[in-house]
Amino acid sequence: MAVLALDIGATKFAAGLVDETGRVYGVCRTAVPAREVWPECRRLLLEVAGGSAVTAVGIGSAGPVDTPGGVTAPLNIPEWRAGFPIVAAVEELFPTAVVRFAIDGACLALAEQQSGAFRGIRNGLAMTVSSGIGGGILVDGRVSLGRTGNAGHIGHIVVPGWEVPCACGGVGCVEAVASGMSSARWARAQGWRGKTGAELAAAARTGDPIATAALARAGTALGQAICSAAALLDVDTVVVGGGFAHSGDPLWRPLRESVGRHAKLTFLRGLRVELSRLDDGATLVGAAVLARSPIDPLALAEPGGP
Ligand SMILES: [Zn+2]
Repeated sequence: MAVLALDIGATKFAAGLVDETGRVYGVCRTAVPAREVWPECRRLLLEVAGGSAVTAVGIGSAGPVDTPGGVTAPLNIPEWRAGFPIVAAVEELFPTAVVRFAIDGACLALAEQQSGAFRGIRNGLAMTVSSGIGGGILVDGRVSLGRTGNAGHIGHIVVPGWEVPCACGGVGCVEAVASGMSSARWARAQGWRGKTGAELAAAARTGDPIATAALARAGTALGQAICSAAALLDVDTVVVGGGFAHSGDPLWRPLRESVGRHAKLTFLRGLRVELSRLDDGATLVGAAVLARSPIDPLALAEPGGP
């Protein structure tokens, strides 16, 4: 039986049905509105469910989240930034359904475990690099949630050399330097005239010097963050997805150089850093894994959990 999956992103909602094999279908997307956010999300869920009996719903959300409390508080959704009780709202909408909820990075790691780079892997880092930067971690074979459900928040690892203010209120976070949005912002400040991370990548491929420098800057910072996390977690596989990760050589060459410069410890020498083969439906796939499991697979990672 298909489950209903919801991906709460920084700028858009996606919802779809996911069958037992992990195939996603019937996907609908909508921009996150400035106001009346829940009514729009609710409309999307009802549209995708299409009147069928929904028995399980999986939700992956941009962070931060409060997983034990069932509350999402995404940095980039102002109306929800102080916290929105997403689990209670979805349970009210589908009263007979099992509703499971996690940060999008954890869903990504579950998706990579089911059908991507984490098959047969026990320790890995899954990242998404798009308008923001997020992640999920696989530790000793389990996707780890941390204390509040926010483990894997690699976007807010501090990287050296760039004192850029971050939307979280901190300074020098890798998201503030290397996301698509941040890179485009930096390039515009240098005189580039485009708008999005995708336009920036296209400009770099044609040899635009500012765009090339922006992607080199992003790749270098990403390599620093990846090596710091890999050293901390002792992972052997880092898989990177998200729209901006598909910027090609202008991003990946400096990223690999940066990894080569920093991954010097013996246990990091074989570190694999690769582009995810999963598409932008990966969070939906992971949310469905979460919803379909007979017991909450993430609760297992909690000390004293069932
Ligand atoms: Zn930050």
